[in-house]
Amino acid sequence: MAIATTNPTTGEVLKTYEPLPDDALEEKIARAAAAFRSYRLTSVEDRVGWLRAAADVLDADTDAVAELMTTEMGKTLASAKAEVAKCATALRYYADHGPAMLEPQQLDADAVGARQAYVTYQPLGVVLAVMPWNFPLWQAMRFAAPALMAGNVGLLKHASNVPQTALYMEELFRRAGFPADVFQTLLIGSATIERVLRDDRVVAATLTGSAPAGQSVAAIAGDALKPTVLELGGSDPFIVMPSADLAAAAAVAVTSRNQNNGQSCIAAKRFFVHADVAEEFTRLFAEKIGELTVGDPMDPDTQVGPLATESGLQDVVEYVEDAVGKGATAVVGGHRVDRPGWFYEPTLLTGVTSEMAVHAEEVFGPVAALYTVQSLDEAIEIANSHPYGLGSNLWSEDEAERAQFVRDIEAGMAFVNGMTTSYPQLPFGGVKQSGYGRELTELGMREFMNAKTVWVG
Ligand code: NDP
Repeated sequence: MAIATTNPTTGEVLKTYEPLPDDALEEKIARAAAAFRSYRLTSVEDRVGWLRAAADVLDADTDAVAELMTTEMGKTLASAKAEVAKCATALRYYADHGPAMLEPQQLDADAVGARQAYVTYQPLGVVLAVMPWNFPLWQAMRFAAPALMAGNVGLLKHASNVPQTALYMEELFRRAGFPADVFQTLLIGSATIERVLRDDRVVAATLTGSAPAGQSVAAIAGDALKPTVLELGGSDPFIVMPSADLAAAAAVAVTSRNQNNGQSCIAAKRFFVHADVAEEFTRLFAEKIGELTVGDPMDPDTQVGPLATESGLQDVVEYVEDAVGKGATAVVGGHRVDRPGWFYEPTLLTGVTSEMAVHAEEVFGPVAALYTVQSLDEAIEIANSHPYGLGSNLWSEDEAERAQFVRDIEAGMAFVNGMTTSYPQLPFGGVKQSGYGRELTELGMREFMNAKTVWVG
């Protein structure tokens, strides 16, 4: 993919970039390695100060950065502003809580015949972050804030369609006063990742994106014996039981499926509705989907903008054609929007069956697949038959159903009477083909730390 800003609202190519030549890439890796040698020795207090300064820079830049993201990948301006604010929250969260997370953990010295025994958490070094375009600031920040708090150094290979947001990330940390080169953006294509990952000066990698990209990075990192965190796709179930507040569930279902123009890994994508309430829920859900305003994402009234790429739009067109061709019904939507740019109508498919691609794959666009089920057992069984296991949602007022759902759903996150959302204060990640490892909280920070055991006699 060319490294370029292409406005999905118009299809117009606004700016293109040459990939970094070999010698410039080498220089950036060398600078990152040199930066780590001194950055690891900086005080926790200094890092806290730089994180807070970065949050302040983001606050001041909100309008400009939000416009940049909307221009590069089409999210609504309001959601882009919310994304900037969330990034500032994450920076402040690690400034507030990072020092305690980095405290040594005292162990039972007597039991091991020592005067002192403890675990001390130390940064690993230069970490490569391969990031996607859908939350171009947040996905990268979710890595950067804990990594920089921990004393690691970051190299960001961002998605090729968000180069300006990627360059802004580097600028942000520089302007916040972090030491030079602790966070650099590499404008490279995905074919160059292997060279970076195999470099001895790069010690670990994190990737958010598709399963094939994750497999590729994990295979190279595995061969080179370097740790990875993978946050891959999701096709989150959203289960609605008879005791649920149907109006609330339908409203949240619409938000969850159509947030970010339908392009979120933790969007609810498969809706399992108990037969007793299926008709009523489907009516409410379809009605609210039909009310969504699709249009220019810069317009404050717009709720759903374009898909980020032309190929992404084509994938959605094919998924819906395949499902309808095999007997599904598009209760609402089901077509491209007749206007320039990569717009698709918010869509509700009913009558989805296992023969359809929407059943077993991830639709990265505003298309909800609805199943009618006879029981919670059936909903969980079909939900768990999917290769992904990222987030999950249950709507029920029944204690026993909630307990069963939390116990049995194969997912990294279980949300009851709400939608799966990432918060700096909660661990984030999946199981099965959705990846491994956790981001955010102290779990995310420690993924790229050496938990060094210390015994002092
Ligand atoms: P990709 O996985 O292709 O892109 C994500 C990142 O990985 C980008 O930086 C990309 O670089 C890089 N990448 C692509 N291919 C490889 C590879 N073989 N080895 C290493 N890195 C690679 O996602 P897409 O943008 O193409 O979206 C396709 C699908 O991915 C979506 O339909 C969705 O299912 C999933 N996805 C999931 C996301 C999530 O949040 N979990 C986010 C985005 C996508 P480059 O841009 O240069 O190709």
